[in-house]
Amino acid sequence: MSHNEILENLDNIVKQAICELQKINDHTAIEQWRVKYFGRKGLFADITSAIPHISPELRSETGKKINTAKKQLMQMFEEKLGFLKNKEASDTDVNFTIPGIIPDVPNLHPITLVSREIVGIFQKLGFGIHVGPEIETDFYNFEALNMPENHPARDMWDTFYLDEDRKLLLRTHTSPVQVRVMQKLSPPLRIIAIGKTFRRDAFDASHSPVFHQVEGLMVDKNITFSNLKAVLIFFLRELFGSRVRVRFLPSYFPFTEPSAEISISCVICGGKGCQTCGNAGWLEILGAGMVHPEVFRKSGLDCKNITGFAFGAGIERIAMLKYGIDDIRQFYLNDKRFIQQFG
Ligand SMILES: [Zn+2]
Repeated sequence: MSHNEILENLDNIVKQAICELQKINDHTAIEQWRVKYFGRKGLFADITSAIPHISPELRSETGKKINTAKKQLMQMFEEKLGFLKNKEASDTDVNFTIPGIIPDVPNLHPITLVSREIVGIFQKLGFGIHVGPEIETDFYNFEALNMPENHPARDMWDTFYLDEDRKLLLRTHTSPVQVRVMQKLSPPLRIIAIGKTFRRDAFDASHSPVFHQVEGLMVDKNITFSNLKAVLIFFLRELFGSRVRVRFLPSYFPFTEPSAEISISCVICGGKGCQTCGNAGWLEILGAGMVHPEVFRKSGLDCKNITGFAFGAGIERIAMLKYGIDDIRQFYLNDKRFIQQFG
């Protein structure tokens, strides 16, 4: 064999050996493999015996190449042998009396905990739970909510659009669920929707491009602002404790009229003023109002005989106040030590 023939031969032997080794599944086969390649009359012995027949200046280099290949295969052989030994041990030495390994299950995520608590409170009031898609159309996210094209209120949301025509988007709020529910069901309606919402916000201590909202809707004959107040005061006192005070201030949303911004007395300082409430003593927690007639119309409901209220709140905001978390990013770092503190 010439120098080149030896190297070519070596290459083929290595490829073949690796291929065969991968398929091996028991001790007999691996011993046969060892003999075939590394036995006294094996393929490596054979190829090594050809070295003295090539020109002297190439012998050392050829020898080194053969040795490197041999080492590589031997290492793979040892690994496979270890694997087979372990496999055999686990196949034969199963002791059914040893207690099982308890999986390391962390607590539920604080967002899940708060969401479940909110659902529980509204279930007490007979509200049903609904969900809607996270990818929405322009119609449900804006137009049906009384924000036609070029409406200035659209600037309030920096939207993730999914297509050039700006017809598909990641919903910027959970309010589209209201419209979907009103299209499907007839009043009386009492529903909440909890889910992910998306805005093109920077990721900082108080903003996240993905966050969660809870949306509520109640529609029937003779629903008034008093019903809205009663439901939300009940909700906030169940959530933050019976001593919490609730404040309603006039506000503006395109999809409700009149609209209100709802605050609770600061859960940290009790209303005296502290860093969390910016010394105001109040924490803004909800937006709400009476459903705008245009939203009823767009949802296909006759607004002559019905009225309703709607509200929305950020779940992260509620969780941060409930658990004293000062950075929204904590929810998304996937740090088990953080999650372990709740529940
Ligand atoms: Zn405070």
